[in-house]
Amino acid sequence: MNRMKLSLFIPKTEIEVYLERLAYEINRDFKDRPLVVIGVLKGSFVFMADLIRRLNMPVELDFVGLASYGKNTQSCGKVHLTRPLNRDIAEKDILVIEDIVDSGLTVSYLLKYLKKRRTNSVKLCALLSKPSRRVCPVEIDYLGCEVEDKFLVGYGLDWAECYRQLPEIFALEEKPDADKP
Ligand code: 5GP
Ligand code: MG
Ligand code: MG
Repeated sequence: MNRMKLSLFIPKTEIEVYLERLAYEINRDFKDRPLVVIGVLKGSFVFMADLIRRLNMPVELDFVGLASYGKNTQSCGKVHLTRPLNRDIAEKDILVIEDIVDSGLTVSYLLKYLKKRRTNSVKLCALLSKPSRRVCPVEIDYLGCEVEDKFLVGYGLDWAECYRQLPEIFALEEKPDADKP
């Protein structure tokens, strides 16, 4: 695979500041209410692992997988579940964890899907958001940081399945034309 040039975009110390603030806000809002925390695979898993270890209430975990058919679509409907949720979430308080909200297509589809399931509440926590790229409006209840339109990797975020293991967030110097090397 071609090696891309990476430049440090969000250092570990800054990620930790976001984690502490987000955990503080979630702990404050939910107090001791049990939460079902649902991570969107695969990108959110590192962020989710770090965030849940800062939460005080009883937490149950689950994961969903989502795929979108095209990044530049103007439609909000071209998303499907590759790994659905195999549990009853009726009456539960749900916290969805996303790595980054870009067009908003993926997460707005997921929020609609979850809200249909007679939950008590559904909130969204995202580490990053690129507001300039939004196609579907999304309300992010707990947000780490807004970022400019750069392709980011590391801390769970991939490029063609690589770089997820990097402990900090990097920008690819050249934005790839497609998701393949
Ligand atoms: P959206 O549906 O909001 O356009 O984004 C869906 C997914 O695309 C995100 O959850 C994330 O996994 C991926 N994505 C969006 N922007 C970036 C980025 O800058 N870097 C990487 N690695 N993935 C991204
Ligand atoms: Mg994601
Ligand atoms: Mg990806």
